[in-house]
Amino acid sequence: MDKKRTLIKELAEKVGKKVVLYGWVDSVRDHGKVVFIDLRDRSGLVQLVGKEELKGLGMEDVVEIRGLVKKRPEKLVNPNLFTGKVEVEVEKHLLLNKAKELPLPLSGDGLDIEEKVRIKYRYLDLRRKRMASNIRLRSKVVQFIRNWLIEKEDFVEIETPILTKTTPEGARDFLVPARLQPGKFYALPQSPQQYKQLLMVAGFERYFQMARCFRDEDARADRAYGEFTQLDLEMSFVEQNDILELIEEMFTKMIETLFPEKKISKSPWPRISHKEAMSKYGSDKPDLRKNKKDKDELAFAWIIDFPLFVAQSKEDFFHGSGKAKFAPSHHMFTAPHPEDLKLLEKNPLRVRGLQHDLVLNGFEVGGGSIRISDPRIQEKVFELIGFSKKQKEQFAHLLEAFTYGVPPHGGIAPGIDRLLMVILGEPSLREVMAFPTTTSGKTSIMDAPSSASKKQLSELGIKLAKK
Ligand code: ASP
Repeated sequence: MDKKRTLIKELAEKVGKKVVLYGWVDSVRDHGKVVFIDLRDRSGLVQLVGKEELKGLGMEDVVEIRGLVKKRPEKLVNPNLFTGKVEVEVEKHLLLNKAKELPLPLSGDGLDIEEKVRIKYRYLDLRRKRMASNIRLRSKVVQFIRNWLIEKEDFVEIETPILTKTTPEGARDFLVPARLQPGKFYALPQSPQQYKQLLMVAGFERYFQMARCFRDEDARADRAYGEFTQLDLEMSFVEQNDILELIEEMFTKMIETLFPEKKISKSPWPRISHKEAMSKYGSDKPDLRKNKKDKDELAFAWIIDFPLFVAQSKEDFFHGSGKAKFAPSHHMFTAPHPEDLKLLEKNPLRVRGLQHDLVLNGFEVGGGSIRISDPRIQEKVFELIGFSKKQKEQFAHLLEAFTYGVPPHGGIAPGIDRLLMVILGEPSLREVMAFPTTTSGKTSIMDAPSSASKKQLSELGIKLAKK
């Protein structure tokens, strides 16, 4: 008897051999003297055939199986199963862990089950075939990107702090009280924007990271509450075109490799000015699919030549920061189009920015820009968005860094969750995240946020206001 574990996917090569399998009972079919069980492990599903003693086993029990691998009669071959040509005749089974009746069914896509229940029992929901496959694909996508950027494009992967200072990307910050400096707060990064620009000053030239970004804004189908993941990257000595070409080539190859059934509808990807997008499609994220019913069509596009500023709105991070009427269209580190520099003074709303948005099937799946590297222009932009002296001081470190030899630089940050959601045609970002929060901001399973003890609060110097 083979002592080593055999994975279900390896069984096709083991006909006539005795094997040891481990996994979960996916289903039980009791035919009287014969019992059929589908056994599931991380690699697949296989049919077990056994005698009455298997009757004690129930769905989702964890078992060890010893048995003989047999070819299935030709007419019984299950073409839907990778291992459908074989079955295992059970000689001995061991129950490793008995499973209670599950609080939710795992068959089917699960989309009709109340989401609260799926998120509460996420560790079970992730056993669902569709979810397990989404999470595995996500890992492959990330690995593809890592290999491409590091091995082919000479990038360095660098982690940046999570406990940091606010990075104004236009959303509300999450604050973390600082025990060592009562009354002061860290902010969780809305993106690693400032750090990646500082890494360019540091001379790395090509940086990326799978960056967790934290934004306290309401959830939507295409926006998770609280946190999400970006492929954050930044490059020195490049023009906008270099960034667009790098992403276009990498994602095209990634889709060809990992999603061969998908078809990119147009290559090279159309590049459309913001003005044209608005006048032709009435949207800055147009859906350019030829056939919107085709679930395998992917229509990428670049939107460029955005206005550098938009009129400030009440919800704006910058609102109330001064008398200014402008807010950055992307963020305040985006460089003005060189041809429009002269308009900065007289007519800021007509200045175009070197911003680029990546659009896929009507969703914005990434944004970035060439950055301002001239401290005088950065000052001017601060002024135009109405920064007070104090607010400017919050960014003094960046302006100072730019006085010590900053290369021209720019980057982009495609959202990994959103990209996957669109490629896989899932109705929400949460379908491609292992442990998402609910729309009301509760975490999976553990149900955070939760109260803190008196002791914790007093250490932090925090008193809660009575509600
Ligand atoms: N930090 C930006 C964002 O999160 C992306 C970038 O400009 O590279 O949208």
